[in-house]
Amino acid sequence: MASEVGGLPVGSLAERVVVITGAGSGLGRAAAELFAGRGAHIVAVDLAVDSASGTIDGLLGEGHLALQVDVSLQPSVDALTAAVLARFGRIDVLVNSAGIAEGRAPTLEQDLEHWQRIIDVNLTGSYLMCQATARIMRETGGGVILNLSSIAGVIGLPRRTAYSASKGGVSMLTRVLASEWAPYGIRVNAVAPGYIHTAMTEKLMAEGRLDVDAIVRRSPTGEMGTATDVAEALAFLASDQARFITGVVLPVDGAYTAYGAPEDAFPGD
Ligand code: NAP
Repeated sequence: MASEVGGLPVGSLAERVVVITGAGSGLGRAAAELFAGRGAHIVAVDLAVDSASGTIDGLLGEGHLALQVDVSLQPSVDALTAAVLARFGRIDVLVNSAGIAEGRAPTLEQDLEHWQRIIDVNLTGSYLMCQATARIMRETGGGVILNLSSIAGVIGLPRRTAYSASKGGVSMLTRVLASEWAPYGIRVNAVAPGYIHTAMTEKLMAEGRLDVDAIVRRSPTGEMGTATDVAEALAFLASDQARFITGVVLPVDGAYTAYGAPEDAFPGD
């Protein structure tokens, strides 16, 4: 059976200009690789220029760009959109994957600085990137914005106070902006990954702050996800096949948040 729409393969992202924050690592990097493989021009954005450049160096073909940006700072975000406009003249897709996780200190022992940095990067950073990008998309006839929420934005995870609040905020940001910007042809969706193998989770595991065995027992599929699982969901939501999908927060969690029984979901052998 032919799998083409309008002469392009289904899911093609040919010639789309795709800005990906946090592209130097984990889910952002996996998205950059997958999107580039489907024909997109990637603008890889990260806190460290070496991280962003490393991703671009790993992509085949010309037409990509690496930029150093702190998404929590408005001047840095404004410089990013100016640089993308100067190079490409438009932004078709934004993937907000920049984010930081937190240690699991009890809430009564946390300080304001800890809370503030996580909110600044995960929530305010997504807000700033959405706003700056949508100003461009409104002028160019529309686009797609994809945010990274989390299972932590859906269910209560003790001691992950700021992270969970930031991700719940990202989900609501997504619904509000989808409702507000649909008239401009801008679709806004989020994915809510479960536990995925990336640098972020590897670090938490190495520090003894993520118990993989417990996660596996709690997961109906009996496994953690891969960065490609999330990148594929993002690629679908970015594609024309998702043209009537906006304002959703799509779980990519192997039924982690669907599961509600009291016993282990995956007891193993
Ligand atoms: P990751 O491997 O740590 O990658 C995140 C990237 O964002 C890093 O390259 C990091 O740079 C960059 N970054 C951090 N602060 C930034 C800032 N202020 N401005 C620009 N870039 C910044 O994390 P990941 O696992 O891919 O996670 C990506 C997103 O998915 C995050 O929003 C995370 O909360 C979310 N998520 C992840 C999982 C999971 O299981 N992995 C699950 C649910 C949701 P540095 O390394 O230099 O700090």
